Amino acid sequence: MSAESVLPWGRASRFAGPGAGWSEVGTGLAQLAAAVGERHHGVPLPSGDPLAVLAAVADALGPERIPESGVGPATALARLAELVAAYGLDLTHPLTAAHLQPPPLTVAVVADALASATNASLDTYDSGPATLAIEQWTINALARLAGFTETAGGVFGPGGSYSNLLALLIARDYTAAGHGVNTRQDGVGGLHRPIVLCSRIAHFSVHRACAALGLGEAAAIPVPVDAEHRMIPEALNALLTELGHSHTPVAVVATAGTTDFGSVDPLPALAEITARHGVWLHVDAAYGFGSLFSDRLAGLLTGIERADSITLDLHKVGWQPAAASVLLLADQQRFASLSRSVAYLNPDDDVEAGYGGLLGQTLQTTRRPDVLKVAATFLAYGRNGLGAMLETCHDLAGYAERRIAAEPQLELVAPVTLTTVVFRYRCEDLDLDQVNAELRRRLISSGTALIGRTQVRVGGSGEPRTCLKLTLLNPETAAADIDALFDELLRVALEVESEALEQSDEMATIHE
Ligand SMILES: *Cc1c(COP(=O)(O)O)cnc(C)c1O
Repeated sequence: MSAESVLPWGRASRFAGPGAGWSEVGTGLAQLAAAVGERHHGVPLPSGDPLAVLAAVADALGPERIPESGVGPATALARLAELVAAYGLDLTHPLTAAHLQPPPLTVAVVADALASATNASLDTYDSGPATLAIEQWTINALARLAGFTETAGGVFGPGGSYSNLLALLIARDYTAAGHGVNTRQDGVGGLHRPIVLCSRIAHFSVHRACAALGLGEAAAIPVPVDAEHRMIPEALNALLTELGHSHTPVAVVATAGTTDFGSVDPLPALAEITARHGVWLHVDAAYGFGSLFSDRLAGLLTGIERADSITLDLHKVGWQPAAASVLLLADQQRFASLSRSVAYLNPDDDVEAGYGGLLGQTLQTTRRPDVLKVAATFLAYGRNGLGAMLETCHDLAGYAERRIAAEPQLELVAPVTLTTVVFRYRCEDLDLDQVNAELRRRLISSGTALIGRTQVRVGGSGEPRTCLKLTLLNPETAAADIDALFDELLRVALEVESEALEQSDEMATIHE
């Protein structure tokens, strides 16, 4: 790749200008693809001990200092592409099934390059008009899909954790205003014992948000869940009734698609209760929102239209490169607590004349147009295209569930709701927590398959046990790949089991 492109007006440039500069990006990508092709490990993760893998990458980069003079773009990019190919993760591999981290759609990756190439920002009109309008269009389309009315608004952000933080910040300020307290100006001191209620298995970002917002993690009150890992409405009602007078409930956080089980809290019942108690209802649908793309699965989210705010992550079910998270508010006016007038960005007279932007709807200033990849995906595949992809992943999870049921050594720990399957390996005379943890590490270090792990109270009671988890987000994975994954898992499990038994025999001999 040459270091410079020739612009339409005949000047050479090293910058990604529209036209010639962008085609230089395309040429560069084609050259990267060639470099990757030669070095790609062809498995989900590189094999080997994690510290050795990290050290190999660091070694290849050389001394830890910025070089005094560069090697030029082509060599620099080829070197990095080779490192990523040889030591990185391949999310498109059919035996990659650990996290809510999907293979990214090609159309989204190209649109993301466009986002980088424009380097537009969403804070003001003059930092990028087109993408400002594209974000509004996409937010409105998502709000409509959620069942919100015309009063709704929303904003893109760098992840579900951030969207949850923003939701709780807005809920905190809104609730405080109802008690005559201005938290934005005066802090949380004037709020009487603020609490946030969420299920016992809500995402940890809710607790972190409570800490960041000055409420403290102890303000997150855990509500019990039923055997299907869903918040128990009666328990929420009892807690709100008991604590409602002595505390200030800032929000109830319902989860639509828990990270481990995909379980969805009973939204209609929770909406009834929060309405009755006058408490903000936030739905963390980071994982589950994509169900609305599918006619078959959309019913899971009935009631979401009654939320005050919704977090959704299209870098999970949505097949976007990270990040593509959105916070939707049922009432756009409630963004008011984030409004900000900055002399050099959005002075009032400029805003009145139409030169404003979205600075006042988020905590970010410079904000990249992540929306471009999302809009490109929606236009390219439509709701049906995305729905079909989700349904294929849901079918794969069902297939894995049946394979687990058919294997005497495997125990299904939770039924499939969306695209995760939680299970564990069972054997006699060994600590199952250790065996399952070692089994997963062994799969990772061999590089052959990548699966997840978590802790679950098996059967709903007792101590949490180490379990294994598949998160299936690749619709190009086939049933035969799922079988290959389980074959490999069972092979390695036997290896782990027999080694552990040998070791415990040795221990027994030593102690004799
Ligand atoms: C993934 C997830 C989050 C966090 O989202 P990030 O984009 O990883 O920050 C929050 N809530 C739930 C339920 C999730 O699954």
